[in-house]
Amino acid sequence: MITLKNDDPEVWRAIQEEVERQQNTIDLIASENICSPAVQEAQGSSMTNKYAEGYARKRWYAGCGNVDTVEELAIERAKQIFGAEHANVQPHAGSQANMAVCFSVLKPGDRILGMDLSHGGHLTHGFKKNFSGMLYEITHYGVKKETGYIDYDELRAIAIKTKPHIIIAGASAYPRIIDFQKFGKIADEVGAYFMADIAHIAGLIVGGVHPSPIPYADFVTTTTHKTLRGPRGGLILCKSKYAKQIDSVIFPGIQGGPFMHCIAAKAVAFKEAMTEEFKQCQRQTVKNAKTMAQEFVKRGYTLVSGGTDNHLFLIDLRNKGIPGKEAQILLEEVGIILNRNTIPFDERGANEPSGIRIGTPTVTSRGIKEAEVIKIAECIDKILSNPSDIKIKETVQKTIRDLCSAHPLYEEACQVAK
Ligand code: PLP
Repeated sequence: MITLKNDDPEVWRAIQEEVERQQNTIDLIASENICSPAVQEAQGSSMTNKYAEGYARKRWYAGCGNVDTVEELAIERAKQIFGAEHANVQPHAGSQANMAVCFSVLKPGDRILGMDLSHGGHLTHGFKKNFSGMLYEITHYGVKKETGYIDYDELRAIAIKTKPHIIIAGASAYPRIIDFQKFGKIADEVGAYFMADIAHIAGLIVGGVHPSPIPYADFVTTTTHKTLRGPRGGLILCKSKYAKQIDSVIFPGIQGGPFMHCIAAKAVAFKEAMTEEFKQCQRQTVKNAKTMAQEFVKRGYTLVSGGTDNHLFLIDLRNKGIPGKEAQILLEEVGIILNRNTIPFDERGANEPSGIRIGTPTVTSRGIKEAEVIKIAECIDKILSNPSDIKIKETVQKTIRDLCSAHPLYEEACQVAK
């Protein structure tokens, strides 16, 4: 970044420090990942200069031949990796993808049935300060208090009672397999559209370690930057019969010019997702999460639903007497980055919740495996069990630094790009 360094040293320095921060810390944020240098090169390319309102071969501006090529590649690859009939690769982010689906089939005041935010759902599934909660009438399903698993009986009962226009499956903090077939059946029974938001688990689905909603859902939305390991962005997959209405809601409905540099980077990421290395990485991500979750259980921690089937798990810290926010701060001090999280039926508010969320996509992309995630769990336990012990803090800091040095950010992620 020689030019940037010369022209804008302040921004250059912040970027360098961010790269160093990422290199020298263990990232357990379940929604993050490390995309490959190839993805970053495409995203940092001159395609950012191009206006391309419209769709490939039907643009409003001249000079779109090259961006048409990358958008067509991205669409074909997205369809191939998910087995979908239609793909729209233009949503700027996951939230825009969800908004587009809502706008395509709902009118203000219509009814949405989505997962409760405090049970693991997302803001766009009906939070009152989100467009979804402002425009539509929302009812929520959640998990069973005794098991932490989605309560499908409750879901069906609410669906029958409230007759939603759309049912949304998918979550930001749910550690178990989602039964998309069951969702599809309930939606059919009550005459609702079914949208599956696979933002968190898209990579696992492509890797064959989570069932796909494609056969059952009318619409599937996702981000491209979580387990899917692409650039920051969104994607909508749907049956051909909805293609026109989805495309016209994205443009001209809610977006203008697509981010062609991001679409180029999405195309690269989708190609990487076809490789055996990517699939292996997804399998390892789940293995790492399961191994780490078991280690916490062995050490006396309470996990929501008792464990995990996917890339993340939630620790209920109430029996440890340490709130989620304090745990997040203490762990950041030793180089472990994660987020506080509500646990289902949390008596504390969203800002000061009782739990933390732990995810394994980033560490797995760095080549970290079972033995090392056990070590990370041990480090977390040591800190949370001895929050004011300076000696323990120093030992853990060193262990984390050594682990980070042994697993450079890009060495492993690069494998996919070669
Ligand atoms: N859907 C789910 C389930 C998510 O977890 C997220 C992001 O965390 C989104 C949608 C929204 O994605 P974005 O942050 O790209 O708008």
